[in-house]
Amino acid sequence: MTRREILPDRTGHFGPFGGTFVPETVMAALAELEQAYAAARRDAAFRRELGELLRTYAGRPTPLYHAKRLSRTLGRVRVYLKREDLLHTGAHKINNTLGQGLLAVRMGKRRLIAETGAGQHGVATATVAALFGLACEVFMGEEDMRRQSLNVVRMRLLGARVAPVRSGTRTLKDACNEAIRHWVTTVRTSHYCIGSVVGPHPYPMLVRDFQAVIGREARRQILAAEGRLPDLLLACVGGGSNAIGLFHPFRRDRKVRFVGVEAGGSSLAPGHHAATLLKGSPGVLHGSRSLLLQDRFGQVLPTASISAGLDYPGVGPEHAYYQLTGRARYVAVSDAQALRAAQLLARTEGILAALEPAHAIAYLERLAPRLRRGTVVVVGLSGRGDKDVQTLAAHLGANGAHPRHL
Ligand SMILES: *Cc1c(COP(=O)(O)O)cnc(C)c1O
Repeated sequence: MTRREILPDRTGHFGPFGGTFVPETVMAALAELEQAYAAARRDAAFRRELGELLRTYAGRPTPLYHAKRLSRTLGRVRVYLKREDLLHTGAHKINNTLGQGLLAVRMGKRRLIAETGAGQHGVATATVAALFGLACEVFMGEEDMRRQSLNVVRMRLLGARVAPVRSGTRTLKDACNEAIRHWVTTVRTSHYCIGSVVGPHPYPMLVRDFQAVIGREARRQILAAEGRLPDLLLACVGGGSNAIGLFHPFRRDRKVRFVGVEAGGSSLAPGHHAATLLKGSPGVLHGSRSLLLQDRFGQVLPTASISAGLDYPGVGPEHAYYQLTGRARYVAVSDAQALRAAQLLARTEGILAALEPAHAIAYLERLAPRLRRGTVVVVGLSGRGDKDVQTLAAHLGANGAHPRHL
């Protein structure tokens, strides 16, 4: 990435990644969205309204918390946690759905469509639909509906229709396919609210821009706390929205290193993880070209992760480009390591994190002994752990996690 390069380019590409691979019927809707977004970002009234909602409804700015006990336990590092877990609905997803919801209203759409895996994005979309008085239909794999039944109830309480998807593995990628198929038939009245920095242009750009509030705040907050920029930013990567949201405002700070942490699942053998940047190859999925977990015939491989939010065979094209250019580095952490890190954070800081950001904490645990003393690290704490308590409970016995003295 050169110093002033603007990404994506006008055709929605991040180097060789990104672009627009959709049925003809959707092209007009994407062009409409791109124009509406270009107008909205220049409009002070739009920015004011979004800023006001982020403050008074979602709970921004979120704190940047100096985790002293965790830092002391890990040694060498000064760890700061960007507390997206404290937001309304429990994760960073609301930053994006508020932005897209406002855009939908501006475009005169009366319905929101969304796909969801774990249900977190579905809940955040249903929430915003209720807030703006829009109808809402969420596509969710039948298998995920079973695994995440509480979020299904949440969405229904918020007035959304949850449409079960019975194709393929009945999980997130099938829900994405179904949402796109449905959008084709309803583009005039519906806005498709994508939940991460994936999909055809302009989604990876606009979701990034809505999530960049994370990094803008963190940059200001760390300068106030430390009087300097951090050495390292660390965030988990599913589709990649919380990570890019943290990284983006630091992109020109060459000395600030970025590390994205993927789901290493039970092993890095095919079908047992969701480490797309580590193990994927270039391909097209859900409307854009990026890295992808696929077999040699181009068939999408099954994925597995203890954290439903990271369990996706694709990844945002900007991350693929960051990896290609070396601007960011990507690593994987196993299910077991993430579970241990969630407990470590709970016991040192009294914070029950979601299993997704626990992956980032787990990597920090591995990295800390190799860092220079006094290294300042900002970790994106993308969501809270309430949704994962049952998963944690099921594993506590198995790995013999008696209260560990720290
Ligand atoms: C959805 C989710 C993620 C993964 O999505 P990204 O787009 O990669 O950020 C990570 N953490 C939490 C808490 C989530 O809900």
